[in-house]
Amino acid sequence: MMGGEFESVDQKPGSLRLVIDDAFTLKLRSIAEAMSYQFNPERKLVHCRGLSFEVVLNAARLTYVRNTLEKLRNSNHISESHSAIKKNTKHSLQPHQPVPGDTSCSLCAVEVNPLLIKKVELVRKQYALVMNKRPWGFHNFMLVTIDAQPQAMTRTELLASFELLKHLGSDYEGIFTGVGAGASVYHFHLQVHKGSAMIWRHLESGSIKPLMVFSSNGVTVKSCDGWPARVFFFEGASFEGLATTIQCMIETLAKGDNDFPYNIGFRYSCGGVQLILIPRSGIEQPTCILGHPNSWGRFGFLEMAGSVFLLSPTLFETIEDSAESIYEAIEEMSIGASQEALLINAFRESVANLR
Ligand SMILES: [Zn+2]
Repeated sequence: MMGGEFESVDQKPGSLRLVIDDAFTLKLRSIAEAMSYQFNPERKLVHCRGLSFEVVLNAARLTYVRNTLEKLRNSNHISESHSAIKKNTKHSLQPHQPVPGDTSCSLCAVEVNPLLIKKVELVRKQYALVMNKRPWGFHNFMLVTIDAQPQAMTRTELLASFELLKHLGSDYEGIFTGVGAGASVYHFHLQVHKGSAMIWRHLESGSIKPLMVFSSNGVTVKSCDGWPARVFFFEGASFEGLATTIQCMIETLAKGDNDFPYNIGFRYSCGGVQLILIPRSGIEQPTCILGHPNSWGRFGFLEMAGSVFLLSPTLFETIEDSAESIYEAIEEMSIGASQEALLINAFRESVANLR
């Protein structure tokens, strides 16, 4: 800073990246102490039907995942017997609330959160950058709303998320996991990590084939052949145009009788954003591999996009023998081809009504 002139770190490209890089490389003691463990995974590639999947064993996170699944199962029993209201609320319309089994929300009261890295302003709104206490990726942190907002992606949050990734650069990936699609906290948070899901490598190598849905006003939307899940690709240089188009899709997912949870993953590259949206069947945990009752946790964006976390250390040793099960698990968590066709029609209509 020179001559006492105030320099807003968030306005300067690269500054935010430095803040994040420093937070992880300097390992601020207060933050390091508040984290449950350091991310130190074992990973390998397995191959099936001409595709490669990344299998990740993050042993330190296993206990947490098992506990949250247990809590969720218990609370589902309670809500099934006592509450008709919750059942009638669509996944994407669930309000902000503590996670099942907890009395308070872990992302509220961010001011006193020992994992707070920094408060930032993105597209004229205040957010907090918060370390993930139980990381599943390198430099894994979250963009969190200061207000108690539900875990739903809105146009405003899309724009802020794009802006954040633009500051961080193309080696970071933003991930949104909706309610019913793997979310374990019901307060708006975008996960960010340094790395990228396996599906991007398949797109780059041409081993999966995007199919044009439409291209309009600089925004391109494609579906895809050859991946076990139904996925949509959005691409464009205009953040505004992209956010508007993606919002149309998110609204379509909850329109009429629709109630499709969803995952989003994106990165900033060559002056634009490439985004993948994955509508979900509503099932969060795949059928386990025979003999391995703890094969997987809930599937989020990374799993649907080919980077699969395994819960069983013994299964990890022999997963090559069960490669087909990975393909089937992703397929099981996805919507079907006929649902995709209906979605595309409704989405096209919704975009046409914008004009
Ligand atoms: Zn909250």
